Amino acid sequence: MKSRIYLDFAATTPLDERVLAAMQPYFSEIFGNPSSAHLYGQDADAAIEDARNKVASLLGCSPAEIIFTANGTESDNLALRGTALAMRQQKQANHILISPVEHHAISHTAMQLAEIFGFELSYLPVDSNGLVTPQAVEASIRPNTAVVSAIYANNEIGTINPIAEIHQVCQNHHIPFLTDAVQAAAHLPMTQAAAHANLIAIGAHKFYGPKGVGALHVRQGTPILPTQTGGKQEHALRAGTQNVPYIVGLAEALSIAQKEGPRHAHRLIPLREHLINQVLETIPGAQLTGHPVQRLPNHASFVFEGVNGNTLLMLLDAAGFACSSGSACKTGNPQPSEVLLAMGFAPHLALGSLRITLGRTTTSEQIDMLLSALPSLVKRARQLNRA
Ligand SMILES: *Cc1c(COP(=O)(O)O)cnc(C)c1O
Repeated sequence: MKSRIYLDFAATTPLDERVLAAMQPYFSEIFGNPSSAHLYGQDADAAIEDARNKVASLLGCSPAEIIFTANGTESDNLALRGTALAMRQQKQANHILISPVEHHAISHTAMQLAEIFGFELSYLPVDSNGLVTPQAVEASIRPNTAVVSAIYANNEIGTINPIAEIHQVCQNHHIPFLTDAVQAAAHLPMTQAAAHANLIAIGAHKFYGPKGVGALHVRQGTPILPTQTGGKQEHALRAGTQNVPYIVGLAEALSIAQKEGPRHAHRLIPLREHLINQVLETIPGAQLTGHPVQRLPNHASFVFEGVNGNTLLMLLDAAGFACSSGSACKTGNPQPSEVLLAMGFAPHLALGSLRITLGRTTTSEQIDMLLSALPSLVKRARQLNRA
């Protein structure tokens, strides 16, 4: 069998065995409904509250400020829609301000809020590295701004935004600041994060936890309405019986990621640098996308002149390498990346994007195998593009 090499850890990660072991008892042994009053319910509830305490201490907030959800997307939706609606109800604030490099979970939610719910929507400028500056936020805030959203670490280009400074500007204007930390939580220290945003969205499967569970930090006092209504679960902000084993898994996975993150980053950064330098050196017409230094430790992303990114992905896949054009959600989409367009890349260049993201199991041998295959695959993709 031909070997297959996975280099798409920003799309998802395999479940950590230790996480699976922590989840196991909650599928059948401890199966109670956490809302039930009897001992079965109490046991399940204790597991959720234990997970909540863990996540709260890892993000630097209190347990009452953590809401469990079904994924990173739902956390983004609840944060943006819930806060926008509450700010309008309480303060007549009708303007949403987001960066142009948000994940679709934010950007498409904002577009719906504008189209269906009548909010004004405007976009922050970003520089050519996809970076949002606090000055840009200061200049773009309006008297009726309801919420500001800027991604912590970008899934497509790896750029890390200065969220502490952006939060400071928003706080000066008493506007809730939301950050999508789904990628950041996998790689960056998060213990100070809650001090730097009113709302923080995370999702477990990006940090070796199970798919289908997320969490949202909501700072006490932040206006927010539930977007899923029903029972009083999750401080009445997310109705529905909780997914106990997955919540236990999220807490365990985050705790491992935060403890072992620095060690993995220490190993991955030189590997990533080697990859970036070699690609830029050996492949003509290649450019790095995203910030050269302020970027996720495992993240390398490029555009190649004269290449269709989807063609290159297929050639890579056939050669045994699983990579991405930027975001798993965009696979098969022939449109140029909105993120790259916002950074000023010409549409024809933005179509030729490639994202390579490393993980805990990535070896330098695997990177060298990719580096020896990539130049000829790019050449082949260029020939196919011209044909
Ligand atoms: C993956 C991802 C999401 C969506 O999370 P899911 O748990 O897959 O719904 C949102 N934002 C960013 C930055 C992501 O990388």
